[in-house]
Amino acid sequence: MSEIQIPEKLEPDCNNCQGLCCVAPRHSIEDGFPLHEDKRMGEPCQHLELDPASIQGLYRCQIHANLKQLGWATCAGYTCHGAGQAVSAFFEEMGIKWSEEFPDPKNLEEIDARDNKVGNFFFGFLALAEVFRFLEHINRRYGPSAFLRSKDAVKELMPEFCRELESEDSTVDYVNWVTVKFDRVIKDAIYGVTKKIVSTSAEPTTNSSIVPASRLSARSKS
Ligand code: SF4
Repeated sequence: MSEIQIPEKLEPDCNNCQGLCCVAPRHSIEDGFPLHEDKRMGEPCQHLELDPASIQGLYRCQIHANLKQLGWATCAGYTCHGAGQAVSAFFEEMGIKWSEEFPDPKNLEEIDARDNKVGNFFFGFLALAEVFRFLEHINRRYGPSAFLRSKDAVKELMPEFCRELESEDSTVDYVNWVTVKFDRVIKDAIYGVTKKIVSTSAEPTTNSSIVPASRLSARSKS
């Protein structure tokens, strides 16, 4: 089994992503989305549609050229730092497209209850978007040496992370991966360069209104 590749540059490649940032996260009115009610995790955005020109069957934002004018500035300002294409490629190798498994809008609790792999697909994206954001922060704050060491440390954990993502029997523990496992190896790597215990980033997303209770602690559905 291959594993998730960390992009050379932590930049998104939307042409090779299954539109994950438009499906996996919750979009809330509070965060500036022009919605009448919050979009649930795992529910495709109303503006995401199958691109008729895409032979891979990819979904595209139909208002992408006019996001700011139409009030969707939050989308225009968002970056996954390359997590989208990295996680999409990994699941595509297993033959998994979320849109084929769940063609009708669903929320992540429903998806998670029915299909661990698709649930893990979305949580894998959300977790790696956080981790790649940590790495980008380290690059800016501590320089290339700390960045490369941190990236190598994340790479070393990737096989274990991928094994959990591809498992049909268990769900990836988002919070444990983001705030404990990846966080610890990144901090250790930076310590090797700066000899200081540092903060990796702003607090990662662990809010239970964003992360369903089912993902707040390790568990198995087997
Ligand atoms: S408006 Fe476009 S970019 Fe924003 S979530 Fe919807 S489909 Fe994605």
